[in-house]
Amino acid sequence: MVFLTDVSKLLFSTSNHRNHHRNNNNSQTAKYSGYPKKVRIVEVGPRDGLQNEPNIVPTNVKIDFINQLSKTGLQTIEATSFVSPKWVPQMADSSEVLQGIMKHPRVNYPVLVPNMKGLEAAIKAGAEEIAIFGAASETFSRRNINCSIKESLERFRTVVATALDNGLKVRGYISCICGCPYEGSVPPSQVTKMAREMYNMGCYEICLGDTIGVGTPGSIRAVLEDVSKVVPIEKIGIHCHDTYGQALANILTALEMGVSIVDASVSGLGGCPYAKGASGNVATEDLVYMLEGMGIDTGVNLAALLRAGQFIRKHLGRETESKIGRAVSIDNIKILENYIKRKSHDQISVAD
Ligand SMILES: [Zn+2]
Repeated sequence: MVFLTDVSKLLFSTSNHRNHHRNNNNSQTAKYSGYPKKVRIVEVGPRDGLQNEPNIVPTNVKIDFINQLSKTGLQTIEATSFVSPKWVPQMADSSEVLQGIMKHPRVNYPVLVPNMKGLEAAIKAGAEEIAIFGAASETFSRRNINCSIKESLERFRTVVATALDNGLKVRGYISCICGCPYEGSVPPSQVTKMAREMYNMGCYEICLGDTIGVGTPGSIRAVLEDVSKVVPIEKIGIHCHDTYGQALANILTALEMGVSIVDASVSGLGGCPYAKGASGNVATEDLVYMLEGMGIDTGVNLAALLRAGQFIRKHLGRETESKIGRAVSIDNIKILENYIKRKSHDQISVAD
């Protein structure tokens, strides 16, 4: 546990650096010039995280959790998944969740949809944005969504066209971009093929998922170099699991290449307790800390985020996977919040 003074010192030093970075146009800041000024974080904890929990989280807890996240300044919160309750019982209450949350006007709440049945239920529940999900690996596609890549693309075409006709936005996910649990490493060309198809169908954004967290800055760079030939880099998001401890390094690599959309899950939700060593997405708290420390604007209030993480962890009865969450105790959060208020007023406007 870090003592209060140590945390403050650490944060003030990033603040000084940030101000320096913003106010001076000299050689010391040049090394950051390649990074985006702003990053949009897509919070996937309520879906990717809770979907992988062994126990089903009560609907009212999910709703409370999303309502708390809505006040953190996050602009995109993936709320739930309209998949068959037979396959994913954790998401059986998707309609109740989507209808039960207090929708913040500045927040989008995409939901995962695997097929037409899911889309119809999502539209009925008031979804304004959906995400479709395919895999870059043939075996993973067959095991995860029970069809070949070719069949999945045919299915998506109908889903996307219907969604667009109904005025919904569609995000496209590709899983296993660096490796597959069944096939091993996945060549970038397979990811690019999928990305081109999804983008041409009308997905406004393509999110590349290192589902099992085996990617390194090397393989992430190779995939992004290839995919960005067919999808503009500003339309590419990155979704990194931290299974092999590479998530922040992989994200930094993506930022260097111009990516400015990053998925994360608060408190690192999403680790599968049944698979040894499997961890969740990069923790949103850790991502915000890194980005804000680099002078990259996320619009997110870190203290509010930490509280939302603590709230859900309390229900799950397990310790947070966020390094920041472990380092900063509950007593320090108020200090951290005061610090953030002084640092940037726009960051707290949503939370207050
Ligand atoms: Zn994931």
